[in-house]
Amino acid sequence: MENPLDVLAFGAHPDDVELMAGGTIIKLARLGYRVGMISLTQGEMGTRGTPQQRAQEFAEAARIMGLAMHKMLDMTDGFVEVNRENKLKVIAEIRQYRPALLFAPYWETRHPDHANCSHLVRESVFLAGLKKIKTEHPHFRPQKVAYYCEHYLFKPSFIVDTSDTFDERMQAIKAYKSQVFNPDMRVEDEEKTHISSPAYFQSIIARAQFWGGKIGVACGEPFYVREPLRVRDPFALLIK
Ligand SMILES: [Zn+2]
Repeated sequence: MENPLDVLAFGAHPDDVELMAGGTIIKLARLGYRVGMISLTQGEMGTRGTPQQRAQEFAEAARIMGLAMHKMLDMTDGFVEVNRENKLKVIAEIRQYRPALLFAPYWETRHPDHANCSHLVRESVFLAGLKKIKTEHPHFRPQKVAYYCEHYLFKPSFIVDTSDTFDERMQAIKAYKSQVFNPDMRVEDEEKTHISSPAYFQSIIARAQFWGGKIGVACGEPFYVREPLRVRDPFALLIK
């Protein structure tokens, strides 16, 4: 099998993964896991930035995060649908890269593309394991999907301590120069958007601190897993 991955993070748009789970993704890459990232769309509906710019920014963010693979699919930004065609696209990626662990957005969220990305990934994980669905690569089913938190809060299954990857994550987010707050950009040059405001940048920091505070560290990222977690050593899990 060509270059399999341990971990594959899905987002609907370039920058979703960095914004919601970037610290954890960097941590996994640093721990030596082969980590990849897929954006279902090329972000062409974004108020600012051309698709070419967004592709370059996506590649730069992936480089900063130490990823083994990054890829943009060609689903329609703003109209990501949970349909057969799109499921087959996600199944093809899962089967090609054979990751044990997937990341996807939590399904209760504001942007319909994010919610549909969540449903697409969950359904495709199951379908990818069915032998009779034929694609280029043989059937394969990842073991777990961890959902990252975006707009609406959930009670996390676990929170990852991302204190030591926070700075790199902010660098990865800043790689999206056309999207996020950029003090060098002249005001008349830009169309103001929610994520381009200084307040949004502050909220990224505040969220990391909020979740970190819940586990007694500087920064954290919360995740939800549907299934109960199997624990081999409860002491190691519960005691620092
Ligand atoms: Zn998005």
